[in-house]
Amino acid sequence: MSSPFDPHLENNNLATNLQADPLDNYLSDPEFHNWKWQIANRITSFKEIKKLITLTPEEKDGFRKSKGRLAMAITPYFFSLIDKTDPNCPIRKQAIPRIDELTVSGSEMLDPCGEDSHTPVPGLVHRYPDRALLLVTDSCAMYCRYCTRNRIVGEERPPMSIKNFDKAYKYIMKNNSIRDILISGGDPLMLTTDHLEQYISKLSKIPHLEMIRIGTRVPATLPMRINDKLVTMLKKYHPVYMSIHFSHPREITPEVAEACAKLSDAGIPLGSQTVLLNGINNDLATMTELFKKLLTIRVRPYYMYQCDPALGTSHFRTPVKQGIDIIDGLRGHTTGYAIPTFVIDAPGGGGKIPVGPENVVRTEPGKIVLKNYQGKIYEYSE
Ligand SMILES: *Cc1c(COP(=O)(O)O)cnc(C)c1O
Repeated sequence: MSSPFDPHLENNNLATNLQADPLDNYLSDPEFHNWKWQIANRITSFKEIKKLITLTPEEKDGFRKSKGRLAMAITPYFFSLIDKTDPNCPIRKQAIPRIDELTVSGSEMLDPCGEDSHTPVPGLVHRYPDRALLLVTDSCAMYCRYCTRNRIVGEERPPMSIKNFDKAYKYIMKNNSIRDILISGGDPLMLTTDHLEQYISKLSKIPHLEMIRIGTRVPATLPMRINDKLVTMLKKYHPVYMSIHFSHPREITPEVAEACAKLSDAGIPLGSQTVLLNGINNDLATMTELFKKLLTIRVRPYYMYQCDPALGTSHFRTPVKQGIDIIDGLRGHTTGYAIPTFVIDAPGGGGKIPVGPENVVRTEPGKIVLKNYQGKIYEYSE
């Protein structure tokens, strides 16, 4: 413990007192916990951000191109999680553009998961037999620099029109094999509760629809959005599930814990989705901490993704082997609930394909040879 007379500490205090941090204007705003204020006050321009943080040359150059680049938007809340003294801060790297984004590598694609070719009506991706993905908005609270849908998000156009929703609704209505709808975007929790309810209440009347899912990053980037009005609305339409995108253990703050508790208490099962990101979370210690922390806030790790080859994201991509090794380092070593399925969303539209460590060493007539988490060999006779 440093004593109050520690000269080093005094100097630090002096320094912060002399140069008031412009971020304090946001943090002390009485509206800070109002989600609409957070959206209205997002940091979206070079001019704004350079007052708040000393940008690295790579970041400054990241603003060079304005046309065609994925928009930047960072809620004051999410921005406040950045460690400004650390150019490698994992929160910072997800949110602030870097020059590397302007480099497109050969294997990258505009539509890496082949969604557009599985779109029978605008905004509806129908790839799997019994479930479909409904993209209701192109807006997010924060634009992740590695976004797999960077071809469509960030322009902040009005949400899915009534006309397009009706087309999607009719398609689901007549395809009675669809029993599960995943509402995503963009981020569906950017819509007002009343607006979102218009979609959900209509979907809930489809007799063959057994469940509704919401895919969102808002509980992590804008936790104040998870208010009583929202959860009271959602719980009318059970079963409602939620998949929340988390990248790093530092995202699990008291505000996020409170938001997730509200959702869980409303009976909404929560799962997480995490993209493996170079220099952000691609090591066993960080992932283990993230998944264990998620369990403490009642979020069950669901998927860990290989970073999709969307245009300009190669600086985030990791070797597939790293993901396999992370799963290998979790299995048996920690709670099974903490282990997500590692998947590659197949380029070209093949869907999510699990890739994992191999525990079946070989099969022989009448027996199967297995390897446990310690690498020991066991035989199971059939
Ligand atoms: C991920 C995804 C789903 C949902 O897949 P689950 O494995 O059931 O979570 C559905 N449709 C599309 C197009 C998807 O990308």
